[in-house]
Amino acid sequence: MAETSVSGSGRPSLPMQGVPQPSRDEVLNLPRVHISSHPVMKHKMTALRDKNTQPPEFYQLVKEIGALLAYEATANLALEPWPIETPMEPMTGERLAGGIGVTPILRAGLGLAEGFRQVISDMQVWHLGLRRDEHTLEAMEYYNQLPHKVNLQVCYAVDPMLATGGSAIDAINVLKRRGIPRLCYVGIIAAPYGLLKLSQTHPDIDIYIAALDESLNDVGYILPGLGDAGDRQFGTF
Ligand code: URA
Repeated sequence: MAETSVSGSGRPSLPMQGVPQPSRDEVLNLPRVHISSHPVMKHKMTALRDKNTQPPEFYQLVKEIGALLAYEATANLALEPWPIETPMEPMTGERLAGGIGVTPILRAGLGLAEGFRQVISDMQVWHLGLRRDEHTLEAMEYYNQLPHKVNLQVCYAVDPMLATGGSAIDAINVLKRRGIPRLCYVGIIAAPYGLLKLSQTHPDIDIYIAALDESLNDVGYILPGLGDAGDRQFGTF
């Protein structure tokens, strides 16, 4: 169970207490939202959610789920013809046109990004650390390894838990300023509240998730969820 978060003033903060939340049914058919229905995904999700799953296995599962999500999210990538010679004769094959980027939102997005790289090994990895200023609620980049030159056809912002939607929205804002032609968000579990916020704020992106859960609790953790995705990957309880 997640600890109650504490604000800078030292008082416990319950950011979602009393906040109205949409139901699961209300967000099921949002445009450009893709929820995996693959049986292998469901099987791995059950192991991931289980509180008895320990960090090494949890991290491995996040990578595997990341690879499955990458497979689904890259299904419509652009290709270009590419002439090769097989041992038998010349032929024109196809290869991915333009660079592909993955942006792990630190730190919980690291395992998912690793899964993406297992599917496309030469993906560029644009690390992004975001923190919200507690007074202005503006996103502050505390870590940014985004290259100056952009040569990507698409970039996937990855973060396992789409809870209130704040960091996902901020990350897409940062990436939009880089002028990448196509952006997607990829997460493992979404709450209806965060999914609706992200989809309404950025209606021009595709959103891929493995599961849509029921709600957020008072401190903004997803129910039934899986607890803290960062702590469970890196063993920092
Ligand atoms: N972040 C997490 O790691 N888990 C949640 O349930 C919500 C946000």
